[in-house]
Amino acid sequence: MTNYQFKNVAVYPGSFDPVTFGHIDILKRSLNIFDKVIIAVACNRKKGYLFKQEERVKLIRDTIADINEIDGSKVEVVALKGLLIKFVESINARVIIRGLRAVSDFEYELQLATTNRTLNPDIETIFMMTAEKYSFLSSTIVREISLLGGDVSSMVPLLISKELQKLYSKGDHDETLM
Ligand code: ADP
Repeated sequence: MTNYQFKNVAVYPGSFDPVTFGHIDILKRSLNIFDKVIIAVACNRKKGYLFKQEERVKLIRDTIADINEIDGSKVEVVALKGLLIKFVESINARVIIRGLRAVSDFEYELQLATTNRTLNPDIETIFMMTAEKYSFLSSTIVREISLLGGDVSSMVPLLISKELQKLYSKGDHDETLM
């Protein structure tokens, strides 16, 4: 991987299971500030993901290729192995980007940012407030709605909703989301 010591680069880590318009909004806004944004797709053993890590990486890459306003050469998508802070150190980046929605995000994000600062005080976590229209949008809600046959086209790019449809079109489900 490139050494970004002298570049204005940020790492945007997350599960992206799947990537939503909320994530894309944070990415676009980050690209107004940074020359390069590296999306680091996590794989946490405790989380049961819908899409495998490689699938999530590919879906984000395909999404970015589809969006004209995003200059693909300014974005890199990588599968994160191991500790985030080690990855950030390994490429000599200094900034981690995270998005903030409701107050409910705050505690978890504070814990994460504090832990990362303890591990390396030279690496700063920067938060961006969600765009109002995406403040209640999460990958979890997208998965649940599509599981129950709902329309998620206002929440995720077309290729993602197609992928979700393919995945969930097979069986009937007993769950109810109200
Ligand atoms: P994680 O499991 O690491 O929280 P997510 O994919 O859920 O991964 O989120 C990655 C980052 O994107 C987090 O900082 C999260 O707060 C942010 N994010 C997710 N959805 C939105 C949204 N709708 N608006 C703004 N930020 C968001």
